[in-house]
Amino acid sequence: MVADQIQRRGITDPRVLQAMRDVPRHRFVPAEFERLAYADRPVPIGHEQTISQPYIVAYMTAALGVERTHAVLEIGTGSGYQAAVLARLARVVYTIEIVPELARRAAATLKALGYTNVQVRAGDGYAGWPAYAPFDRIMVTAAPDEIPQPLIDQLRAGGRMVVPVGSAEQWMTIVEKTPSGVTERRTIPVRFVPFTRGK
Ligand code: SAH
Repeated sequence: MVADQIQRRGITDPRVLQAMRDVPRHRFVPAEFERLAYADRPVPIGHEQTISQPYIVAYMTAALGVERTHAVLEIGTGSGYQAAVLARLARVVYTIEIVPELARRAAATLKALGYTNVQVRAGDGYAGWPAYAPFDRIMVTAAPDEIPQPLIDQLRAGGRMVVPVGSAEQWMTIVEKTPSGVTERRTIPVRFVPFTRGK
């Protein structure tokens, strides 16, 4: 069971581990890769994109520190898997995907599984989702060279964002908005698909 592997790798938050157990990952991967759904590795989801390996999903979810009352914004819906994990912990999840076909498929998967607290939108996540801002938490699952300023602006005071930053070399970065300003902390080296920009 992949949750046990994740736990051995140091993720101890019981709510995160339970959410990982509860979300049927095989429903989010293309049929031809279903046998890989519960291996701790990334899986292709088409359009040159991948669903992150379970360890990274768990790591980012734990780092985000999601609470039941939180509104969470995710940039990079992909398959919708990470959004489903977040939806089990948060009040509501807003998620934006730049590839319309992936957005459509993720919305259908989430609906079929009965998630009613996730809203999926197709579009460029650079500008965030002003209509629902501010967000208690923001997770970005594609790597920008620099953190988009609109996302920092849409973070609630006291809020937190987890984002992989960089191109050749990427670092998971934790951004916190405190009363005295915005702080950034790098944690582990990672490899994500690039954060692309719409026209
Ligand atoms: N979180 C996803 C995996 C993300 S892969 C999951 O659980 O399956 C990264 C995704 O970010 C890709 O689907 C890619 O198309 C999307 N993406 C890249 N740049 C983006 C942007 N500017 N706005 C929204 N989505 C973006």
